[in-house]
Amino acid sequence: MERVFDFGTKTVTLNSGYKMPLNGIGTYSLTGNICVNSVSEALKRGVRLIDTAYMYHNEAEVGEAVRNSGIPRSEIFVITKLYPNQFSEPEKAIDEALEKLGIQYIDMLLLHHPGTNDVKAYKAMEQAVREGKIRSIGLSNWYIEELEEFLPQVSITPALVQNEIHPYYQENDVIPYIQNLGIVVQGWYPLGGRGHTAELLGDETISSIAAAHGKSSAQVILRWNLQKGVVVIPGSSNPAHIQENTELYDFELTDEEMNKINALDRNEKHDWY
Ligand code: NAP
Repeated sequence: MERVFDFGTKTVTLNSGYKMPLNGIGTYSLTGNICVNSVSEALKRGVRLIDTAYMYHNEAEVGEAVRNSGIPRSEIFVITKLYPNQFSEPEKAIDEALEKLGIQYIDMLLLHHPGTNDVKAYKAMEQAVREGKIRSIGLSNWYIEELEEFLPQVSITPALVQNEIHPYYQENDVIPYIQNLGIVVQGWYPLGGRGHTAELLGDETISSIAAAHGKSSAQVILRWNLQKGVVVIPGSSNPAHIQENTELYDFELTDEEMNKINALDRNEKHDWY
């Protein structure tokens, strides 16, 4: 059931039938012009997957960068999310997201966290799929227990689950559980998240693997994710980093290198959810 990553086209076909890029840009904490510029730089450099959320207060800026890119809408994949405080009036929240983004439709809408009325909100997303407002739907910060409880209550299987994943927090039980349901896994905080990147990028094991390949630690971590079947959305406002984060397909980690990084797991979450 696991969905296969196509490293040739750098995409994966979701259970909804749509193709999603394997690497993208995350926009958490990028606001205003910094967001517009970062997303524009990413699009110029071939990035076609953008992750935003109601809670990031930058859907309008993401939409602006997409519209001004000159790239056909159909080639860009935009993910946004409904926050739990929107779950009681989900239809309104969906229409607001569409309006702020201004890009005709949403490629992927996620529920940002479990919360009161999450099933109701998901059902509204299912209806919006039927109406053509949204193409694919999914969840974020749902783990095994939450999925076991949630899935029997809905009719469209999520296409994506987006959870915290990095070498110090690997979710090695959760990832295969989700993938075996035919759901694609995407990792947030791939580089550990702001405040933690120096430690992770400076990790001796990762640095030595990076040196052996003539790559950066960031590229090694992102590649490790891809080889585990996890889609990556690193956040950056630095064009050199944005570029670097796209160059993930011209090297391969050996099984031994994968195992060395797997052994770094500390079950250390870098955020509360
Ligand atoms: P992250 O990607 O782990 O780390 C971002 C940090 O890494 C920034 O400080 C960035 O600095 C630095 N960086 C990026 N590329 C680099 C490179 N090649 N070399 C060195 N440093 C590099 O953290 P994040 O952006 O917070 O998380 C990724 C995305 O996941 C978010 O943007 C958001 O879209 C999503 N997210 C989702 C949830 C959720 O609950 N669903 C929660 C958190 C995040 P520069 O700007 O200087 O490059």
